[in-house]
Amino acid sequence: MNVQDIIIKLRENGYKITPQRQEIIAVLMHEKKHLTVEEIHTLISHHYPNLSPDTVYRNVGVLAQLNVLARADFGDGRARYKLLEHDGHKHHLVCLGCGNSEEVDFCPLDYMDSRAIRDKKFDVKRHSFEIYGYCWACRHKEV
Ligand SMILES: [Zn+2]
Ligand SMILES: [Zn+2]
Repeated sequence: MNVQDIIIKLRENGYKITPQRQEIIAVLMHEKKHLTVEEIHTLISHHYPNLSPDTVYRNVGVLAQLNVLARADFGDGRARYKLLEHDGHKHHLVCLGCGNSEEVDFCPLDYMDSRAIRDKKFDVKRHSFEIYGYCWACRHKEV
């Protein structure tokens, strides 16, 4: 998702493009990793020393609600946020019975902690992810 997409999404949902929101988006674009609200606040406070953590918290909430940010929980009780990678690509549920495939509006990369990939200095360009199983119709077919 690029800045333009995010701005359009905010506008479509009746949100103004405030400098604070732009700054939050810029930080998340630059960092490309999961950040807590505190970490986002610290990074922004270099530019906006008067911005309160509450404001960051509220704005991050708005962006998460609009599906601009993915929220992840690494089990330490602190929510972390990362910009969704979605560029319109889709993943599928593939039925082993009838061969039908169904799109899912979900990308595992958005919820993954990509530290292990970054540590290898690997620049990800694309990926594939399919889930195989049996669709509802196949599961309920008379044998
Ligand atoms: Zn099927
Ligand atoms: Zn994906």
